[in-house]
Order: sequence, then C-alpha cells, then structure tokens
Amino acid sequence: MKCCLLCEHRCAADRTAGPAGRCHAGAFPRTFAALTEYAEEDFLNPAFAVSLSGCNFRCAFCITGRDSQDASRGGAADVATVAAQARAAVAAGARSVVILGGEPTIFLPWLEELSAALRPLPCPLALKTNLWVTPEALERCLAAFDVILADFKFGTDACARRLGAPVPYGRIVRRNLRLCAGRRRTVVRHLVMPGHVACCARPVARWVRRQPGLELAIRDHFVPAWRADRAGLGRTTTEAESTASARLAGESA
Ligand code: SF4
Repeated sequence: MKCCLLCEHRCAADRTAGPAGRCHAGAFPRTFAALTEYAEEDFLNPAFAVSLSGCNFRCAFCITGRDSQDASRGGAADVATVAAQARAAVAAGARSVVILGGEPTIFLPWLEELSAALRPLPCPLALKTNLWVTPEALERCLAAFDVILADFKFGTDACARRLGAPVPYGRIVRRNLRLCAGRRRTVVRHLVMPGHVACCARPVARWVRRQPGLELAIRDHFVPAWRADRAGLGRTTTEAESTASARLAGESA
C-alpha cells in the first residue's frame, strides 16, 4: 500500500497516508452493504454479500454509483467484524460468502486477511471483480478465494473507454481470465447493455465459450442507473435485445 501496484493502473501511490491513486482509496475498505441475498448464481444462493466502497473504474451505468465509486462511503470494515457477520450468516443458511464492490481487489491485503480469518469455511468464498488486476495480484486472489465472479463488460475498447473503463480493457481482462481458467471455478458475467449486443454481448459470449475452464453467465436485467442517461444508456433493453440475450445465454448453456 506504500507503493500500490495492485491494479493495472499501476499508480505506485502511497495509500497508507490516506486516499490516493486513481481509485482514491486509502489502505482499508469501508462497507456500504452486508446482507444475505439471492442475486448470485444458483450454486451460491443465498449468498452473504459484502460490498466494499471504492473502485478503479468509473462505469457510467454503475448500479451502486456513488457508494461504489466513492471509497469514503459506508462504515469502517474491520476483518474480525466482517468475519463474524459472515460466519453468523452461514450458520443461518447462507450457502456462500461473496465479496464485491466497488472493486474489492483494490483492498487485496484486507481480502487476504479476511480469507484467512474465515477458514475453514463450510461453503465457497467468492470474489466478484472487474479483473483489472496485475498478474501478481491475481495470483494472490486465486490463493485467497474459491470462486471468481468476473465481469466482462465490454466487447471493444472503444465501448470501454466511452462508458468509464480503462484501456486496454479487452487485453487485460482476457489475459486474466486465461490465468483463472481451470484454477478456480470462474463464472464470467456479461450484463447486456442497450444498443451493445453486436459490439459487446456477442463477441464477449463467443470468446468466453471458446475458453476451456470458464463458465458464461449472460445477464439481461440492465437498469439505466447512475449516469447511464448521459452515456447514451438511458433505457432498458428492447424485446429484440432481450431475445438476442436469451439466445446467447442458451448457446452458452
Ligand atoms: S488500486 Fe489501482 S488505482 Fe488504486 S492506487 Fe493501486 S494501482 Fe492505483
């Protein structure tokens, strides 16, 4: 954290003194939600999901916009408290623990501490990530988590740049997915965006299907949240786009 190189922004920022780098995050995370929910894949539901504020992307359509992108939101998250909450949730019936953001990997040392505090855990510990991590950080993620839930949001770097993600988006995400494949159960999620079936959904689905060791999850529940309107995403998907999404999901099954 004194010279942060956790993600592919490679800022080399000192985050021990306070918020720094392109994520504007300090050394320790804050949580803006921690609850048991049914929003994950079937094999994880119900999941105890912990949402950390702070992100290294600025996606215009982020469903939790300000909470995700502002690392000062939420309450302090000490490892012992979160571990105790997770254990209680699992004892009450949660079938997994999922850490999400924001982008949780920008707090990797904290994630590793949490993983160690939770073991042994009688259910999977999953990490939801945008995969904008360095290979070194990704290796540490693979050591700490049982399941990787990877967002592959954009089919072209032009779409990534326009909608708030860094580039070379596609090259980094594909490289990191290849590093995950076969090592940990890896579910690649793609949320179909209105007007982005041909440029994003279709090429992402086709690429993921060709990779051994990756599972594809096409999602068609786009909500025009946060600054989606300004980015030309101010609507839900049309019936034709939903049909195309269902076809892509069916092809992936
Ligand atoms: S996590 Fe990424 S964006 Fe944040 S300071 Fe480190 S290298 Fe920069």
